[in-house]
Amino acid sequence: MSGRFEGKIALITGAGSGIGRGIAMRLASEGARMILVGRTAAKLAETAELMGGIVDCEAADLSSAEANRNVAGQMADRYGHLDILVNCAGIYAAGPSDQIEPTDIEAVLSVNLVGLVDLTRRLVPLLRLGRPSGVVINVSSTLALTPVAGALSYSASKAAVSAVTETLAAEWGPQIRVNTVCPGFVDTPIHRQRGGTPTEVAKFLDQMASRHPMRRIGQPEDVAAAVAYLASDEACWVTGATLVVDGGLRVALR
Ligand code: NAD
Repeated sequence: MSGRFEGKIALITGAGSGIGRGIAMRLASEGARMILVGRTAAKLAETAELMGGIVDCEAADLSSAEANRNVAGQMADRYGHLDILVNCAGIYAAGPSDQIEPTDIEAVLSVNLVGLVDLTRRLVPLLRLGRPSGVVINVSSTLALTPVAGALSYSASKAAVSAVTETLAAEWGPQIRVNTVCPGFVDTPIHRQRGGTPTEVAKFLDQMASRHPMRRIGQPEDVAAAVAYLASDEACWVTGATLVVDGGLRVALR
């Protein structure tokens, strides 16, 4: 694979598993120098090992302003600039909306929205030094565009990410491009941790696959390919955009 990201520095949040791990591996395979950020040091180390070990890892809870300040400080001290930021860390929550507590909503927003904005704004001085532009890619969801019953906090948080993306794209051009990807249902720990026997989980994944016009659920690599395009100079005139990478789920849910 060609080295579209040779000489580039890329920070990926949520890089310890799932889609974030897939994105980190894809950008590294094309030459990027990676900084992996996530909650759990051991999971980041697993990703680093899969990538050959030559990466920096920062364990940080992105819902904490102090943690975000530390990550941005480390980046400034060690690298002095940042070419690519992928905000992939996120949590999911489901349940009937009439039973939701304000604290449930705050817990999801604190990571998916507030943490994302806080880390991003702290990295802006470094991203402004990215060439030809700094790049920010926010991982949202098809459920931001087509909410379904039972995922109020999650859909609201991801819809807010779309609004944030467009606001920042308008404010920060031409120095920084800001775009969103909206994945459909992707096979990651976020779903496999939902409980049930292996047979029940397999049945659930089959049901989900049948809802996608492409008749399969996504893999982290499917999303990573789209992120690599948005991060690359081929997308140098793309900002404020939403790239839906969902096997057609959005049009099937409408
Ligand atoms: P995942 O659970 O494997 O990955 C989420 C990652 O975010 C984990 O590594 C976790 O440690 C990290 N994280 C969570 N809270 C954090 C915090 N406070 N601080 C730092 N890191 C934190 O799940 P995934 O499916 O790979 O999800 C990645 C992103 O993709 C999420 O934003 C999710 O909402 C989004 N997404 C997933 C799907 C899907 O079907 N899997 C679909 C659409 C969007």
